[in-house]
Amino acid sequence: MPVPSKAELYRRLPSVDELLQSHDLTRLISSEGQAAVTDAARAVLAKLRAEIASARLGASEVDLARSGILAAIERQVRQLATHSLRSVINATGVVLHTNLGRAPLAASALDHIRDIASAYSNLEFEVETGGRGKRDVHVDRLFRKLLSQGLASGGSFNGRSGRATPEISTIVVNNNAAAVLLALNTLAEDGEVIVSRGELLEIGGSFRIPDVMAKSHATLREVGTTNRTRVGDYEAAISEKTRLLLRVHRSNFEMTGFTGQPAIAELAALARTRGIPLVEDLGSGSLFDLRSVGVDGEPGILDSLRAGVDVVSYSGDKLLGGPQAGMLSGRSDLVARMRSNSLFRALRVDKLTYAALEASLLAYVRQDHGAIPVLRMMRLSKDEIGKRAEALADQARSLSLRMEIIDGESVLGGGAAPSAVLPTRLLALSLDDVTAGELSARLRTWDPPIVTRVEESRVLLDLRTVFPEQDEVVSRALRELAG
Ligand SMILES: *Cc1c(COP(=O)(O)O)cnc(C)c1O
Repeated sequence: MPVPSKAELYRRLPSVDELLQSHDLTRLISSEGQAAVTDAARAVLAKLRAEIASARLGASEVDLARSGILAAIERQVRQLATHSLRSVINATGVVLHTNLGRAPLAASALDHIRDIASAYSNLEFEVETGGRGKRDVHVDRLFRKLLSQGLASGGSFNGRSGRATPEISTIVVNNNAAAVLLALNTLAEDGEVIVSRGELLEIGGSFRIPDVMAKSHATLREVGTTNRTRVGDYEAAISEKTRLLLRVHRSNFEMTGFTGQPAIAELAALARTRGIPLVEDLGSGSLFDLRSVGVDGEPGILDSLRAGVDVVSYSGDKLLGGPQAGMLSGRSDLVARMRSNSLFRALRVDKLTYAALEASLLAYVRQDHGAIPVLRMMRLSKDEIGKRAEALADQARSLSLRMEIIDGESVLGGGAAPSAVLPTRLLALSLDDVTAGELSARLRTWDPPIVTRVEESRVLLDLRTVFPEQDEVVSRALRELAG
C-alpha cells in the first residue's frame, strides 16, 4: 500500500464545521458557548496539522487521532473554563510560604472585601461633605492608633521623648519592594544613600538592593565590610551628597562568626545629629510581639520606631498577616513627601487591598490576634499539633503506609530570619515500594493539592500550617494511600 502523502493526511482531518455539527459538540456548545468550542476545535486541528507537517504523525496515527478529536476538544474547553489559580493545603509548616501565597487572610478581611468590592464605596469620597476624599485615610487612622499609641506607651520616637502622641503617618503601596523604591526615589534622588556592605542582599524574585537603588536614581555608597560595619564607617562616608542612611533587614540569611553592625539606636543617633533621615527596610514588619511565641531577634515595627528610625518599610502579607502591600510608616513630613511623589500614584493599591488591610488592622486594634490566621498558626503549641497528627495517623495507618510522629521545626519564612523557627510535631510517612518523592507527588495530585516536605526519604507533614477544618481532607487522602 502506498504511503499517503501529507496532503492526503490533511484531507483525512475533519473540518471545523463538520466537528461543530457533531452531536457531542452541540451539547458542549450549549453549556460552554459557541466561541469557546470553535476556538478549541481550531486549536486541536492546528496541533494535528502541525504534527503532520513535521512528520510526527503518520497514517495510522492520524486515524487514531481522528477518533480522539472530540475528547481533545472537550478537554481543552474544560481546561480553559476552570481556574488555574486554586487553593492548596500547605502541610510544609512554612507559615509565610511565598510560593503558596504567603499570608492567608482573616475571615473578617474576606467579609470586608466582599462588602466593599461587590458595591460602590467611599474609597475616595467624604460622606459628610460630599467632597473628594483620600483613599489612604481608611487605614492611616488605624496605623496611627496602633503605632502612635504604642510609641506613647513605650518611650520616645526619633529622640523626641516626652511628646504625648508622636505624629506617625503611613502610606500603602503595592508591595514592600515598591515601598523601598518610593522611599529611595523620594528622599534620595540624585544623591547618595549609605548602606552597609553586609546588607546588600537579594530577596527571592530578584529584588536586589543595588538594582532598586539604581532604578530610584539614588547612588549607593557602600560602607564597612561584608561581615563588619561600625557607626564610624557611616560617619566617615557622610558628605554634602548624602541624602539617607539605609538599614536593610537581613531577611533570608544570617551571618555568624566575626561579625558586627551598629545597633539601630546608634545609627539613629548619628542620623539625628547630622540631620539625615534613617530609613529601615524591615521586610517582615510585625505588629505582634514574637517573643510571646518564643521567637527572638525579629524586630517589630514599634521596636524600630522606638529606636529612632525615621521611616520603616514592611510587607502587608508577611508577619502582619494581611494582603500583599508595602507600608511606609514614620515621620509625617517625610511620608507626606513620598505621598506627593508621582510614583506613589503608579504604585497605589486598590480597594480590595484597603478593605483587607483595614479589617486585619481592626483585629490588631481589638487585640484579637486569634483572628489573624498566621498569628493563630504561630501560637499553636507543639502538643496541640501533635494531637492532631496522632488522630490522622490512627485513622489511616496500615501495613504498607507507615506513620510516625516526630519532633521537628516549623519555619516562619517570608523574610523572617532562617533561625526563626517554632518547635512542632511532624507526621512522617513512608509507603512500601514508593519513593518519598513519588509519595509527595501523589499528595500533590489530590484535590485540593497537599504540599509537603520531603526529608531523608520520608514525607513530612506539619499540621501547624494546615487549617484544622482541612484535617479531614488530609485524612481522606492518607486513607486512600493506605488502602
Ligand atoms: C520580603 C522583603 C522585601 C520584599 O517585600 P515584598 O512585599 O515581597 O515586595 C524587601 N526587603 C526585605 C528586607 C524583605 O524581607
